[in-house]
Amino acid sequence: VRIVDAHQHLGRCRVFDADVAAEDLLGAMDAHGVAVALVMPFPGAADAANAHDAIAGLARRSGDRIRGIALHDPHVDPANYAAEAERCVEHLGFVALKLHTVGHAVEPLSRDGRHVAATAARLGVPLMVHTGGVGTPFASPSHCLPLARAHPDMPVVLAHAGMGVATQEAAVVAAEAPNVYLETSWCSVLDTRALLDQFGPSRVMLGADAVENIPVELAKYRALGLSDDELAECLGGTASRVFAL
Ligand SMILES: [Zn+2]
Repeated sequence: VRIVDAHQHLGRCRVFDADVAAEDLLGAMDAHGVAVALVMPFPGAADAANAHDAIAGLARRSGDRIRGIALHDPHVDPANYAAEAERCVEHLGFVALKLHTVGHAVEPLSRDGRHVAATAARLGVPLMVHTGGVGTPFASPSHCLPLARAHPDMPVVLAHAGMGVATQEAAVVAAEAPNVYLETSWCSVLDTRALLDQFGPSRVMLGADAVENIPVELAKYRALGLSDDELAECLGGTASRVFAL
């Protein structure tokens, strides 16, 4: 099974008071058999462009075991937001844009939120959105549905799939829009099974969000009695297709 962790961060965060070093991330990937991790800055990075450069450097050093996702504050001049997104996708080889509803205080349906989605669609990459738990109502999964409908060819990945408290709402969104995918970090094992029962493994993907959470998320999927093919799909196949890895 080629394991893809669709959600990791690198560097410092002044919002969530975190700090992830490259060697800790690569060490955890090795320890738990993760082939590829999709890595973004934290929303509280002191300088998002520097953080993007650090991720691109790590991607080169790691032989593409790390792939970047751009995450920077959209509450700036729209042209400046788009220029950094374009630099990440076209020059650094990043595979998606992330909208952080809580970390950057972005309502997905605001002008700035819609600009993030339109920029991802224009650049031809998926949009990942933080959903659930802390951050509602901005993080309510339903707020992503109009974005998914406005850009039907763009995959929209609901990070944390509603994080348990709003997982049922994430399922409603995924049922309404076939371009919506569910990354299940921090969902309970039973939430994850409910999503798999409803949508099958081709709409569901592994994400850990924290280095320490990698073995926990893997254990969750392995506890569900899935077939080898189903497991391969959730643990890597779905993310590989959605992010064109
Ligand atoms: Zn995260």
